[in-house]
Amino acid sequence: MNREQLAQQIIDTCLEMNALGLNQGTSGNVSARYQEGMLITPSGIPYSKLTPDMIVYVDENGVCEAGKVPSSEWHFHLACYLARPELNAVVHNHAVNSTAVSILNVAIPALHYMVAVTGTEHVPCIPYATFGTQDLADYVTEGMRQSKAILMQHHGMIAMEMNLEKALWLANEVEVLASLYLKVSSVSEKVPVLSDQEMRTVLDKFKTYGLKSE
Ligand SMILES: [Zn+2]
Repeated sequence: MNREQLAQQIIDTCLEMNALGLNQGTSGNVSARYQEGMLITPSGIPYSKLTPDMIVYVDENGVCEAGKVPSSEWHFHLACYLARPELNAVVHNHAVNSTAVSILNVAIPALHYMVAVTGTEHVPCIPYATFGTQDLADYVTEGMRQSKAILMQHHGMIAMEMNLEKALWLANEVEVLASLYLKVSSVSEKVPVLSDQEMRTVLDKFKTYGLKSE
């Protein structure tokens, strides 16, 4: 896939993220691994106005191509690619349910077997740090090493996968899980969870399960 095609896929993913109701305004951002760095959405342009030439290349040292301004959250996108060399796409947003759980500062426990889509038995919540800072990128690095999807305290969520289609699918699954968590915790003080043993079984099955795509 050439740069223009990948940039178009990033734009399509942003539009689909809006259609799924995961995004608030232009607060979400999307990137994909490209060459030694990544292609990422620019700062402050509505998705409906994006064209492939507006997507910004940032190299592995955080150097942006001249004349373009990447999303202010590019630091943690780059941290994701460094933390998980086997994964190639990052979706970030402030989806309402995921952000609500992040404000409670709790991990989403194994309340449903689909938690295993993250590759682990819970969805961790990383500590708060100001957006656009290296501190936040460092917390993201720690979180991403544990799970393909994380909550960010008082901020939102990140989902990372093999490609953009899968990353968006994972982000949507996390939002559903966050919604389930809020519903259950509103009627039950203790959220019932699956056993560690059952989650290990499901995690094993999920090695060959997930959104089927190229
Ligand atoms: Zn954000």
